[in-house]
Amino acid sequence: MAEAACQAGRNVQEIGLIAVSKTFPLRDIQIAMAAGQMDFGENRVEEALAKMADLAGKGEPQPRWHLIGHVQSRKARDAAGRFHLIHAVDSLRLAQKLNQHCPPATPQAILLECNVSGEASKDGFAVAGWERNSAIREAFFQQVEPLLALPNLSVQGLMTIAPIVETPAQARPFFASLRALRDKLRERFPQADWSHLSMGMTDDFQAAIAEGATLVRVGRAIFGSRG
Ligand SMILES: *Cc1c(COP(=O)(O)O)cnc(C)c1O
Repeated sequence: MAEAACQAGRNVQEIGLIAVSKTFPLRDIQIAMAAGQMDFGENRVEEALAKMADLAGKGEPQPRWHLIGHVQSRKARDAAGRFHLIHAVDSLRLAQKLNQHCPPATPQAILLECNVSGEASKDGFAVAGWERNSAIREAFFQQVEPLLALPNLSVQGLMTIAPIVETPAQARPFFASLRALRDKLRERFPQADWSHLSMGMTDDFQAAIAEGATLVRVGRAIFGSRG
């Protein structure tokens, strides 16, 4: 990360590392915590809540938990208010559900997941091609506007998953597209906080850092391969 930041002329301190601990046992999380890692990412609500509860029973300190996977509507109730940041809010409907179940005193921080590649297998707001097609951009903005008005949520930026490509450099245009979209949102909705770009994983985090990632989500490079 430091190397990639340096090459991009960025300060590595402005880039957060989320250790993606899905499928790994609590023991591995504790080892990472002992090494100073305090942000962990899980992609399933039940698994995350179970690990949270187990760790809470072991006393301080407690890490920051990030929910990075798709949230099914029926899981919104369990997830709302429980995470430092929910990365994959991909519809107005899901945002409304989270808003409804979140305690008003502490708004839930969220990111909007965007499908910048247009791959059918990917979740996220359908924004692929937004640079050339203003109808796509406007359709997205029309969902963002009511979403920003939800009182119990606090939008903090965007998240994406790049397609699987042969070389990390091939992922760069997708990350660049997310950053440019964020800049447009900032112009259009200056009242909101658009500071975070959650992008980059084990195979492509350097490319994401080159394009402005503020949060990278890295699993295998830290914990090893999953199953
Ligand atoms: C699993 C996962 C990651 C981490 O992937 P690695 O290839 O293990 O680094 C990042 N983001 C999301 C959304 C994931 O589901």
